Amino acid sequence: MATTYDAIIIGTGQAGPSLAVRLASTGMKVAIIERKRFGGTCVNNGCIPTKTLVASARAAHVARRAGEYGVIIGSPITVDMKKVKARKDAVVRSSNEGVEQWLKGTKNLTVYQGHARFEAAHRVRVGDDILEAEKIFINVGGRAAAPTLPGHDQVSSFNNSTMMEVDFVPEHLIVIGGSYIGLEFAQMYRRFGSAVTIVEMAPRLIQREDEDVSQAIRTILEAEGINIRLSAECIALEKRGEKVAVSVDCSDGDKTVVGSHILLAMGRVPNTDDLGVKNASVVVDQRGYIQVDDQLRTNVSGIYALGDCNGRGAFTHTSYNDYEIVAANLLDSDPRRVSDRITAYALYIDPPLGRAGMTEAEVRKSGRKALLGKRPMTRVGRAVEKGETQGFMKVLIDAETKEILGASLLGIECDEVIHSILDVMYAKAPYTVIQRAMHIHPTVTELIPTMLGELKPLQ
Ligand SMILES: Cc1cc2nc3c(=O)[nH]c(=O)nc-3n(C[C@H](O)[C@H](O)[C@H](O)COP(=O)(O)OP(=O)(O)OC[C@H]3O[C@@H](n4cnc5c(N)ncnc54)[C@H](O)[C@@H]3O)c2cc1C
Repeated sequence: MATTYDAIIIGTGQAGPSLAVRLASTGMKVAIIERKRFGGTCVNNGCIPTKTLVASARAAHVARRAGEYGVIIGSPITVDMKKVKARKDAVVRSSNEGVEQWLKGTKNLTVYQGHARFEAAHRVRVGDDILEAEKIFINVGGRAAAPTLPGHDQVSSFNNSTMMEVDFVPEHLIVIGGSYIGLEFAQMYRRFGSAVTIVEMAPRLIQREDEDVSQAIRTILEAEGINIRLSAECIALEKRGEKVAVSVDCSDGDKTVVGSHILLAMGRVPNTDDLGVKNASVVVDQRGYIQVDDQLRTNVSGIYALGDCNGRGAFTHTSYNDYEIVAANLLDSDPRRVSDRITAYALYIDPPLGRAGMTEAEVRKSGRKALLGKRPMTRVGRAVEKGETQGFMKVLIDAETKEILGASLLGIECDEVIHSILDVMYAKAPYTVIQRAMHIHPTVTELIPTMLGELKPLQ
């Protein structure tokens, strides 16, 4: 016999738990279902563990550079990967257990552990349990794509999840995929002590960014000794004794890279293939992303999709924002929309890239009149003091409205600095507002008004 709830939430990623607790707090009878680990990707094998590992890698990097700051470390810097992993595990455990306890301790909320599959539009099976509700919220997230490269069945490889179990320094890590996830792992393992090669099919790293950003990131990574192979069109894998060989068929350089381990970082796929979406008549696109409108409603009345599985964002903050939009519409009579949000994200190499709004390429394509401001980090006092002057800051302004169209800030602290621009974009205020603000000295942010005072027409 089915148990009837007011609302069912499938998945405990970045939207589901907050929505479940919010709905339960109104007195609704709510069920939430998780098949693996509470907290989903971000908590268990995404943002939190990777940024914890990035912090260990940065500590090693700074220690190696200690002499430049006049600090003498008597012995060579080595990394104890077992301790690095234990530190990462402790941070993850605290978040993961926190989510579990929060959900299990919430009144009106029942937690089911198992795989959920739709049997019909408003009926879901979890093991032997059948659950029914008028409102169902899908927050099933995604997982690493498993591309079928020639020879992939001959060799073992890591993805972002299995990489979390590594407690040793690979002799030579080959990272296939030169985008956000691949670059973070590449730099971190180089700093842990591995030889690292990045193999990317496109002619430049992180293609979605402007060319000057891709080039600056390449310079930063190559300066640390990372080997970068671009335009690798026919990637094939082959076992060579204890090693792995990757054919890269690039336009220049050796045709094969031989390493000890492979990390596949070639994109993500939504967890909708085994969700029974057809039984519920919920429409997905060709890649499996659930189709939603501006308020995250699917084509089936009462069914919503939030987070990575709807293809409208691929970040923790976009998933959490989805929760805010759904809660605002359902509970607060506040008609928030997905289209209200401004593109914003960071790439956590060191130094980080903070992004907001349009790229320069997008502004050019839009054909509007624009102004450009750009400043290398070598001309940012705070960066000079810290001895970290790689990268640059770039901002684009609408020449007519004076509103900020976008920014790419690649440099120390730029994952934080970007918010000073983002908030003004949300306020729809002209950039001149920032110029009149008194900023704190010495900071990276204090140079944003200076950069805005040197704008030139975008040619
Ligand atoms: C290596 C890596 C680093 C990242 N770093 C960042 C970062 O720095 N900043 C950032 O903003 N984003 C980052 N991301 C992206 C971020 O982790 C995701 O965008 C975010 O976790 C998406 O959350 P979600 O709510 O869509 O679902 P998820 O967090 O993916 O959670 C979905 C949950 O649903 C469960 N589930 C799936 N199917 C079922 C089912 N049928 N039944 C029951 N349960 C099910 C899953 O087990 C999972 O727990 C990173 C991702 C990766 C892989």
